[in-house]
Amino acid sequence: MPKERILIVEDEEDIQELVRYNLAQEGYHAVVAGSGEDALLEVQQNPPRLIILDLMLPGMGGLEVCKILKSNPKSLNIPIIILTARSEESDIIVGLELGAEDYITKPFSPKVLLARVRACLRRKMKEIPPEHVALNLDKLSIDPIRHQVTVQGEPVDLTATEFRVLHFLARKPGWVFTRQQIVDAVKGEDYAVTERSVDVQMVGLRRKLGPCADYIETIRGVGYRFKE
Ligand code: CA
Repeated sequence: MPKERILIVEDEEDIQELVRYNLAQEGYHAVVAGSGEDALLEVQQNPPRLIILDLMLPGMGGLEVCKILKSNPKSLNIPIIILTARSEESDIIVGLELGAEDYITKPFSPKVLLARVRACLRRKMKEIPPEHVALNLDKLSIDPIRHQVTVQGEPVDLTATEFRVLHFLARKPGWVFTRQQIVDAVKGEDYAVTERSVDVQMVGLRRKLGPCADYIETIRGVGYRFKE
């Protein structure tokens, strides 16, 4: 099996080497770009399976790189894990809203980084077209065609918005979504959803889901995700 190529975009040599070494140990083929400009060139010439992207780069910043890659249909589907020294929530949120799949804050443990890389690649494999996702978990099932949710076999009466929020999160288990991404995904013609009302929706959803409430996880300061 050919090794999966992972592009590391990082200007600090010791971090480049730390990440490269650990990825290589895991059997990945890691390539390094020292700037955003080099990274864009590399992606164009030889698209990797995944990108680990530092935000603090000389020249073009990491968020700009993320924006360019995620707005191009050719690179849109390459998962990006943001690596940032700034543990500031605002950068993480901007990155996720630009389409990055995950983030890690420096200093990080190589083991955690590798686990995130594996999880990210695994989730990408499992992605299913949105309309088709019916979910049948142990206690919870979601049927998008009938618009029906059951908990332990019992139908649960959700509002249209609650259903959309739940279905949106559930079809990408493990992905973190910001409130704004949830708003964008679920807003309809006839009702307004705001970032604040996302929290209200979650309260209602969790109450109605009862024993399945913990499928919806709150990521403090960032947003929500469906438990993997
Ligand atoms: Ca840097």
